[in-house]
Amino acid sequence: MEKRTKIVATTGPASEKPEILRELIREGVNVFRLNFSHKSHEEADGAVAMIREARAEIGVPVAIMADIKGPAVRLYGYAQDLPIQAGTELVVESRDPAGIEKLVSDEASRVFTNLPDIDRICSPGQKIILMDGYFTGSVLAKGRKSVTIRIENKGSLRPKAHFTIPGADYPIPFLTEKDLADIMWAVSNDIDYLALSFVRCAADIEEVRRLIQRAAVSSGRKSVIKLIAKIESARGLSNIDEIIREADGIMVARGDMGVEMPLETVPIAQKKIIRKGYLAAKPVITATQMLESMIENPMPTRAEASDVANACFDSTSAVMLSGETAIGKYPVQVVRTMRSIVLAVEKEFDYDDFHQDIPPEVKTGDIPAIMSYNAVSVAYLCKAKALIVLTETGHAARLLSRLRPRMPIYAFLSDEKLYNQLALNWGVLPLLHSGKGVRLDEVVGEAITICKAKGLLTSGDKAVIVAGLPLSQQGSTNMIRVETVS
Ligand code: PEP
Repeated sequence: MEKRTKIVATTGPASEKPEILRELIREGVNVFRLNFSHKSHEEADGAVAMIREARAEIGVPVAIMADIKGPAVRLYGYAQDLPIQAGTELVVESRDPAGIEKLVSDEASRVFTNLPDIDRICSPGQKIILMDGYFTGSVLAKGRKSVTIRIENKGSLRPKAHFTIPGADYPIPFLTEKDLADIMWAVSNDIDYLALSFVRCAADIEEVRRLIQRAAVSSGRKSVIKLIAKIESARGLSNIDEIIREADGIMVARGDMGVEMPLETVPIAQKKIIRKGYLAAKPVITATQMLESMIENPMPTRAEASDVANACFDSTSAVMLSGETAIGKYPVQVVRTMRSIVLAVEKEFDYDDFHQDIPPEVKTGDIPAIMSYNAVSVAYLCKAKALIVLTETGHAARLLSRLRPRMPIYAFLSDEKLYNQLALNWGVLPLLHSGKGVRLDEVVGEAITICKAKGLLTSGDKAVIVAGLPLSQQGSTNMIRVETVS
């Protein structure tokens, strides 16, 4: 059986070649992530064309995710690396973000930031982090729209270095000009997923949904881009319930989370978010530094292998590769390694125990939840080889996915965009049917014929069929049927 936990791979110079992309798909990549922190629209156009060609050639669903950079607090005012000693003091002064990139400070010990009113956000004694953890320090004193910081370690401070005040809620807009342009690019290129950085609350997601709907209407498209909220700040984590309700999926963005919040809280946040995600039937991606050492080495560290395995034991929907496949020396080998770790966990995973954890809606009378839970129970009892779900919106497939059943979920649909989007969902193999059948028997017959032709089912196998009747009505999962393949 194919692996159930999905792999998201970030593309970049190491992987944006047709033959490498094809190999990555064959090794188990289900979603390609384009990281707009490091990508022009022209580069993204090229990558998307290559991915679309590769997935069509291999004939499997693969989603494309555009990861929007989001707001960043940075240091400006110096064009070259700044030499820093342990104990160096710097004055950090708030300046208008418009034109800040061109400013040059006339004092070596004075730098600028796009964070407004820094003196209102920081207090003496407060911890600060520069360049994502390369430097640590603290605030010594406040000035007028400025603070003095003392840095604790030696090194070179790069221009436009990230400036982090752990736990702070930065008073800066959620979307930058660049983000707006990147979102418009995603709409006009009909991208499957948008990942939104530094989501703080449900309103941030609503804002993007409104934007993409408006853009889609004015370009005459039906906007069905799904939104993944990246959780990477204390505020995002504290609003996790409303964010999960509004988003189509979540990314545990451990890179920024590990500097915005105390490092020791990251594994706990990961477990909590994954559990909330599967209970809500929304996919959760565990991201960042999963097999980081494979950027340089052909084998990961044992701790990294355990990290991937533990995310799978937590029931993550997907595990993500960043630099490993974007700029690493071993893009194909790292996906192969991740896949073998995932498969090893899936052999050991306690599916029966997971099935005892009944989703709350099953007990409160929600019909689709009751039907999907019982479909899995029936599949266990009759030793079915697969669950077959006929789905219009993907909702019924997600309800089955959240139950993490031992048997595969073959999701039949006729919409090509949804076909690729469902590649992200745990345990789901999306399959296209012709969309011509109107009666249930016709569609089930076609689904079973396709499964047989693909070698997914053989004569004598049982499959549990889950559907909503009438077939064309969305969100109406109300039917379970057992079929024996002839
Ligand atoms: C992260 O911070 O973990 C992350 C995935 O976001 P980015 O790579 O965009 O910083």
